[in-house]
Amino acid sequence: MTDADLIIIGAGPAGMAAAISASEAGAKVILLDEQQSAGGQIYRNVGSNHDGRSFLGEEYFEGLKLVEALSRSNVKCEFGTTVWRIEDDLRVVWSRDGVSNISSARHVLLATGAQERPAPFPGWELPGVMTAGAAQILMKSSRLLAKDAVLAGSGPLLYLVAVQLIKAGTPPIAIVETQTMKNAFKASRYLPRAMLASKMLAKGMELLRYIRKSGVSRYTSAKDFQAVQNDDGQLTFSFRTRKRVHQLVTPLVLSHQGVVSSTHISRSLGLAHEWNLSQQAFLPIVDKWGRTKNSRIHIAGDGAGIGGARAAIASGRIAVLDMLFQLGKLSDDQRNQSSTADRALLRQSLAIRPFLDALYYPPKEILAPSGETLVCRCEEIGASTIRQTLNQSGLGPRQIKSSTRSGMGPCQGRMCELPIQGILSSCGKKHLLPKVRTPIKPISLGELASLAERPSTKS
Ligand SMILES: Cc1cc2nc3c(=O)[nH]c(=O)nc-3n(C[C@H](O)[C@H](O)[C@H](O)COP(=O)(O)OP(=O)(O)OC[C@H]3O[C@@H](n4cnc5c(N)ncnc54)[C@H](O)[C@@H]3O)c2cc1C
Repeated sequence: MTDADLIIIGAGPAGMAAAISASEAGAKVILLDEQQSAGGQIYRNVGSNHDGRSFLGEEYFEGLKLVEALSRSNVKCEFGTTVWRIEDDLRVVWSRDGVSNISSARHVLLATGAQERPAPFPGWELPGVMTAGAAQILMKSSRLLAKDAVLAGSGPLLYLVAVQLIKAGTPPIAIVETQTMKNAFKASRYLPRAMLASKMLAKGMELLRYIRKSGVSRYTSAKDFQAVQNDDGQLTFSFRTRKRVHQLVTPLVLSHQGVVSSTHISRSLGLAHEWNLSQQAFLPIVDKWGRTKNSRIHIAGDGAGIGGARAAIASGRIAVLDMLFQLGKLSDDQRNQSSTADRALLRQSLAIRPFLDALYYPPKEILAPSGETLVCRCEEIGASTIRQTLNQSGLGPRQIKSSTRSGMGPCQGRMCELPIQGILSSCGKKHLLPKVRTPIKPISLGELASLAERPSTKS
């Protein structure tokens, strides 16, 4: 006896769309998310954010449709719950307010989305240096606005955050971009295909136009980022464009180098993953229905590869069709036919990805840091230590972890794993999938002990 037909982890666009369509088809669904409400990254807090329309933008408020449809549905939503383990028999272990619980289902959909790519440079660990996405989270959840910030890095989210800040009346003092003419040249071959997603291209152009009109300074082809803390608590952010060195004094550096799939749960389940060259990250291997090698576990949305919100919605609904097929609620034909519209949406939304991946490909110095740049922030281990360990003993990522303790801190590798992969690759070594053990998010020993074989709560 299970608690539900389907447990979905993640109430972003993928998870919400999947939950609504599974519930409409009569399936019993539990939706778990560690946030306090539905929305995921793009629509975070949209249900209670009534006054940000002027600066968060219309696209953000489009998320209300999904959030409201979810609240009208029969889906059992459990917010403020962090999933920290999934067992082979699909018992999902989650924690809320320091107490862990177990729910079980016949199928599980991982819709855990993405995180920003760790972007190490000297000084990225200083107070006042944070990610552009983190600043956006503060905007969406607490209406806290970054003042006099420098936005540094590359990617569409950098422009979006810049425009949101300008509209909110706290424009950044500068946008320092790492993409180069070489990136643009490489990306140009994907432009014809990207035209299939012409609305998204137009949206990007509109963001750029808005930034230009605002008069915010923009620097491109920037490299050698460095942040230093001044005596007055401000930061001096320096960088180079061609032969010129620039220095900007700012209270806040918001860095961003794109987003990468969150794979901690899929890796902890031992599912197959492969290195994706253009996204420079490991991605889970799924079939066209989002099905993993365990046919009862599907992955949808950014967690299966970065595609954005529209692709996430389509892939969430497509995964549900396959589960309904497996549950005997749809025939093979019905499953195929019902997926046609979402497949078209998915194809169209993904058409722009090769262009974006090439245009905003992270610079080498960020992918494979060197010198004293901190790589593992939890254990304070610099790039040079990782490189020395690697050179001295010819070790792989697993041995680097045990000999330097990198990845053993509370972030559980979320900050250092990719830079270490980059360093390995720059030393001519193959990318090796880092193992993930549960709990995939830190919980206390007391909580773990009190869980011991408590029977699962049937709903
Ligand atoms: C910080 C950040 C900000 C972004 N802002 C924008 C934006 O403004 N506009 C835009 O177009 N795109 C934005 N993106 C890109 C965005 O991720 C996608 O476009 C879209 O939200 C992907 O949808 P999704 O459903 O796959 O995942 P997400 O929207 O990322 O949702 C995943 C959900 O899973 C939950 N989750 C993850 N792990 C667990 C766990 N272990 N237990 C419980 N719950 C869990 C998370 O809390 C989250 O709510 C942002 C990305 C990031 C990382």
